[in-house]
Amino acid sequence: MALRGTNQEFGRPYNRRIVLETIRLHGPVTRADIADRVGLTIQTVSNIVRELEERGFLVAHRGAPKGRGSPAESLTVNPDGGYAVGIDITPIGLEAVLTNLTGAIVGRERRDLDHADPDTAFDAIETLVAKLVGVRPDGRMLGVGMAIPGPFDVESMSFVGPTTMEGWTGVPLRRRLKEATGLPSFIEGIAASAHGERLFGAGRDFRDFYYLYFGVGFGGCMVHDGMPLRGAFGNAGEIGHMPVVPDGDLCPCGNRGCLERYVSIEAYERRAPDIGDDAWVAEVTPLLRSAIVTIENLFDPETIILNGLGHRSLLQKLIAATGPFANSVSARTDRTAPRILLSDGGYDAVLRGAAALAVSGALSPRFGVMFAERRQRSERDPIMLDAGRAA
Ligand SMILES: [Zn+2]
Repeated sequence: MALRGTNQEFGRPYNRRIVLETIRLHGPVTRADIADRVGLTIQTVSNIVRELEERGFLVAHRGAPKGRGSPAESLTVNPDGGYAVGIDITPIGLEAVLTNLTGAIVGRERRDLDHADPDTAFDAIETLVAKLVGVRPDGRMLGVGMAIPGPFDVESMSFVGPTTMEGWTGVPLRRRLKEATGLPSFIEGIAASAHGERLFGAGRDFRDFYYLYFGVGFGGCMVHDGMPLRGAFGNAGEIGHMPVVPDGDLCPCGNRGCLERYVSIEAYERRAPDIGDDAWVAEVTPLLRSAIVTIENLFDPETIILNGLGHRSLLQKLIAATGPFANSVSARTDRTAPRILLSDGGYDAVLRGAAALAVSGALSPRFGVMFAERRQRSERDPIMLDAGRAA
């Protein structure tokens, strides 16, 4: 259930990230434990550990002597070794947290904003982040990570709708975030929350799982080998716009019968007041069940983890209604995990995941670039931006 390292020297930033993540997930651990878990040599692990220890990110504990020889040191993350801000922006507002290096939340701020335009949002972000940084005025601020709803920069889908962020297409997000906060900045779509679930939620126990997010819209992200699968342009997993009802409801994206027209908080708030919660769940269950089969056949995950904004009892009802499941590659007799389970990270996993982007990005520069590569590249390079527009 561990991430695997690479013994090639150019993989150092990647290795640094997985060593730190392994200590975060499994500490206290010895250098030998880490080497074993991630498939690196003890020497490579020791070099990385020394580097992280010197910079105050790790704490070593010496156990009681057992028999001959000195006992192996076990390592934990130094909670106060660094702090990061995690922000989630949605069509209904902003929520932000300050986390320490273990991912524990030490400060929290929120602001209701109805479909904020970028200027309004970044003004609010500047204020919120300043307040959070003030919670630990002497702390080492590693950066700020922000989760934002997709799809990103898709010309044919830059529609205005109740589940999307109006006027956000073509905005240099990372640069704006950096200008507003003065901190190293990282932006992701649903991959941020999937990363949070993997580190801080039910995803801890799985290496390959599908993360399903019931928010204002409906989204998802495959976590493969411990890493969110982003796709070529960061839009993989936009299942909310999967057509599921032929000639169904018109979606603001221009198509008909998209899944999130029926299964999302936006859909729930449109429909449930008229017919009641239980009738709404019964109405959308066949669609959800069929989406589960599609996800399973496409990705063959160990399990599907459902998370969402508020309404935890509603998520529980949705899960309870999904059985009995139709056949798929996941209908195995030897399976131990349920086909779908409720996140135990809750909404905080989203915010902690956004903050964790900044931690991973700051400590492993290459990883940070990997995580937002396309948009960063187009931001830096106006030629790339023009090429993207023309295409
Ligand atoms: Zn759609």
